Amino acid sequence: MTKENANELANHLKELHLSTVRECYEEVAEEARKESMTFEQYLKELIGRECDVRRENRIVRFLRESKLPMEKTLETFDRSRLTEKVNAHVSMLLEGSFVDRTENVLAFGNPGSGKTHLLCAIGQELIQQGRRVLFSPCALLVQLLLIAKRDLQLPYMLKRMGRYDVIIIDDIGYVQHSREEMEVLFTLLAERYERGSVMITSNLPFSKWEKIFKDPMTTAAVIDRLVHHSIILELNIGSYRLEQSKKRKEGEKVRSAV
Ligand code: ADP
Ligand code: MG
Repeated sequence: MTKENANELANHLKELHLSTVRECYEEVAEEARKESMTFEQYLKELIGRECDVRRENRIVRFLRESKLPMEKTLETFDRSRLTEKVNAHVSMLLEGSFVDRTENVLAFGNPGSGKTHLLCAIGQELIQQGRRVLFSPCALLVQLLLIAKRDLQLPYMLKRMGRYDVIIIDDIGYVQHSREEMEVLFTLLAERYERGSVMITSNLPFSKWEKIFKDPMTTAAVIDRLVHHSIILELNIGSYRLEQSKKRKEGEKVRSAV
């Protein structure tokens, strides 16, 4: 190819934002000649590389914007602590189609039972599948919603949150909120109903949710919407950290006895 043609091609590719094609078309052409590829095979190989790089970049971007704690992965989560039933649910959730059905996930259990870690690990896997996830502690989310409301930006914020396939709200009911704070949370949940998945962790069973949402009507409305299409994970297990420190202490005892 003449230098002039190469320049022109580079400009076209720049205009179309095909940076990977620009970087590797010569190298792939070399391969194509060696392996006697057809024009069609060459094109497929080249465009395939552009797609691969874009997918990888997208995942990095989604992970960053998700605000998920990166260390809470599936690899570092010990699934043998879960009951068979919860484990079966987790396998189903990891497959990801619940998001397409806009189903919700509710994880209940004692502090330290692994609710946050488990939902975050699932969140990371969903991102690997190309889905958009947002993680937020409930208390922080409520504050951000309130600020948006004060600045008359609530509809805008809700719209922006609508871009996410999944919103993970961590520790609902952990901090007692005022009525106004709960109202914005209710607005968010109502807005997402049947439009996008919500994943929630809570130490409080539904029977105590009136403490969160203050009045019985609102509480019933929230539970009704959340439960309508939902998977409930009951992590009725002890604290992971407590168990680990007990194990460590037992190890020390054994060592000192030897
Ligand atoms: P919860 O949200 O239920 O209070 P967390 O998910 O915050 O509990 O777990 C408490 C700590 O124990 C975290 O550091 C978490 O990484 C760890 N942990 C909990 N369950 C497991 C598990 N099954 N495997 C590995 N680490 C776990
Ligand atoms: Mg937690």
